[in-house]
Amino acid sequence: LLIYYNGDYVPKSEATTSVYDHGFLYGDGVFEGIRAYNGRVFKLREHVDRLYDSARAIALNIPLSKEEMEEAILETLRKNNLTDAYIRPIVSRGIGDLGLDPRKCPIPNVFIISQEWGAMYGDLYEVGLTGVTVSVRRNSCDALSPNIKSLNYLNNILAKIEANEKGGDEAIFFDQNGYLSEGSGDNIFIIKNGKVYTPPTINNLKGITRATAIELLADMGIETHVENLGMFDLYTADEIFVTGTAAEAAPLVKVDGRPIGDGKPGPITGKMVAAFEHITTTTGTP
Ligand code: PLP
Repeated sequence: LLIYYNGDYVPKSEATTSVYDHGFLYGDGVFEGIRAYNGRVFKLREHVDRLYDSARAIALNIPLSKEEMEEAILETLRKNNLTDAYIRPIVSRGIGDLGLDPRKCPIPNVFIISQEWGAMYGDLYEVGLTGVTVSVRRNSCDALSPNIKSLNYLNNILAKIEANEKGGDEAIFFDQNGYLSEGSGDNIFIIKNGKVYTPPTINNLKGITRATAIELLADMGIETHVENLGMFDLYTADEIFVTGTAAEAAPLVKVDGRPIGDGKPGPITGKMVAAFEHITTTTGTP
């Protein structure tokens, strides 16, 4: 397996950075998660745009144009003969002395990892996932803004630990005000009385799958209501599904041990899972 490393393609064992990389020392950097289906990269430009926005938000200049980044991503897949893959571009502040100051790191490090990848949750797409609400908050007003895909994912990791301890598949966050935020790696949609709701993206990642889901629902004649939601809306939903590059569109059939609706994936969720499978396998950058 070859990893892109600052313009070179190096074997996995040689794709190593220094302990003085500020990505490692301070979580100072950004990343993306992208999928390829049938040899085509899904929403490539959207992911590259978000990578550069994440970088801008932390005042990090990526030393490649967006076109060069896209080409590097596609070339990483070609070099590894991958058609169905997960792709992880990472840009760290670079290597410097100890100390937070980014001026210690003149040159960012750019890595692109790719690997073969199938469905994240296996047969759970038909059965549905279980969710656990967690005590860790997704805070929309500190440096770990949910909008930045930064190398500091501690909030999400703590949420995942809590979900693991409680025996759930995915953690569900609320923000500092008690509003529904997102999952540890996906956005959330709630269906109630035939209407679809999702939280505004001030307190969650501007998910590319989320945007795709809103479009697919519109194509089905279903409007998505973007509004603040709470614990009540979660517990009383008829259906819930989550969306993410890794998770795709997946039904959530239980929250905190309580069945959602009748505890089975609902009809709108079913249509969404099918529509998402269709769009990922019929579009994308070759
Ligand atoms: N929320 C978080 C915290 C994530 O890490 C991800 C994954 O990228 C998502 C949501 C879903 O976003 P996307 O659909 O762009 O993959």
